[in-house]
Amino acid sequence: MTQDAVSLTQSLLRFQTVMGQERDCAQFAAHMLEEWGFAVKKHEFQEGRTSVVARLGGSDKKAPLCLTGHLDVVPLGASAWSKDPFSGETDGDRLYGRGSSDMKAGVAAMLLAARSFSKKLSQSPGIVLVLTAAEEGGCVGSRHLAQTQLLGKAGAMIVGEPTSNYPLVGHKGSIKFHATFKGVSAHGSMPELGDNAIYKAAHAVTRLASFDFEAKAHPIMGKPTMNVGTIEGGSGVNLVPDVAKIGVDIRTVPGVDHQALLKRFRSLLAEAEIDVFSDLPPVWTEPQHDWMRRVFEVCKAHEPRTATYMTDAANLLKVYAGVPTVVLGPGEAAQAHQTDEYCSMERIRQSVSIYEALIDDWIKS
Ligand SMILES: [Zn+2]
Repeated sequence: MTQDAVSLTQSLLRFQTVMGQERDCAQFAAHMLEEWGFAVKKHEFQEGRTSVVARLGGSDKKAPLCLTGHLDVVPLGASAWSKDPFSGETDGDRLYGRGSSDMKAGVAAMLLAARSFSKKLSQSPGIVLVLTAAEEGGCVGSRHLAQTQLLGKAGAMIVGEPTSNYPLVGHKGSIKFHATFKGVSAHGSMPELGDNAIYKAAHAVTRLASFDFEAKAHPIMGKPTMNVGTIEGGSGVNLVPDVAKIGVDIRTVPGVDHQALLKRFRSLLAEAEIDVFSDLPPVWTEPQHDWMRRVFEVCKAHEPRTATYMTDAANLLKVYAGVPTVVLGPGEAAQAHQTDEYCSMERIRQSVSIYEALIDDWIKS
C-alpha cells in the first residue's frame, strides 16, 4: 500500500469513530503496522472500544520513543456541516472532516513515519505507537491502557494532538468531582420540618467561589483554576429538597499536589459526599531538557508554550513515569470539535517529516 499522509488521513476519516466505534479503525491501523513488521497488541476496555499498542525494535540501553494519538472523534454537533464529515473532502489546502485536525491527521502522520523507519528499527531503541480509544470525554481508553501491561517502556513521548506543528511542553492537570449534599424532604409549606439540601449546596458553592489555591503561578501555565459547572437538585417547587449535587472542574499546574488539594476540598465540603471521577496530573517537561531542545530545533520553535486542553499523556505517564513529553501534531487546535473541521494538508505532510526527524534522532543518539 503506497498511501501518502493526506490519503491515509482520508482513509482514517472514513471510519466513523464517534465516541465508541474505534474497533474498525483500530483494526485497519493494526493491520498496516503488522505488515510493516510491528508487534501489535490490541486492548478493548469495552466492546468495540479498541486501542492499539505497536512496537518495533528495542534495546537494553535505551527505551523506545512513544508516539501516541487517539482514534475517536467527537460527535458532529447541532449545526449542519457544509462538507461531508466522513469522506475526506478537500478544498485548496484544506482537508475537511470530523477528526481531521483532532486528530486523525496526527495519527496518519505517525503511522507513515513509523512505516518509513520500519526497516531501520530492529537493532535500535525502537518506537512504540499507542493509538487510543475514548480520549474524548475523559481519556478513559488511556486510563484503562495504563492499567494493563501492554504499554511497556518508553523513553520520551510525542502526543500528536493538534498544535499546528508547534511543540508544546505540557498542559494543565485536572480533577473533576461531584459533591452530593443530603437533606430531609418536607412539604414546601412547612420547611421547618425538613432540611434543605439546596441551601447546603449553595453555601458550599459560595465557599468554593472564594477558594484560594495558595499556589504560585506557573511561569507558562499560570495559576490553577476552578469552575463549578453543574448544579442539580430538588424535584418540585413545593418540596424541601433532600438532595443536591454540584459538579466541580479544577485545573492544576505543576507543583500542585492533587492529594493535598483534594484533602482541602474534602474538608471544605465536609458535609458532602465527594465522588472524584477524573484525576489527571499536569504534564510538563522543562524546555531546557536536552530532548525538548532537540524537538524545538527540529520544529524551528523558540518560545515555550503549553496546550490549553488535556491529553492522554496524563494517563500514559503513569506508566512512562517522568519521561519528557511533547504535544506536537499537524491539526489546528482551533478546529477541534468545530463544525466543518479541517486540517491543512501541507501541515500533515510537514508533520511526517518532523516525526521522522525525531525518530531518526532517537534511534541514532
Ligand atoms: Zn484530541
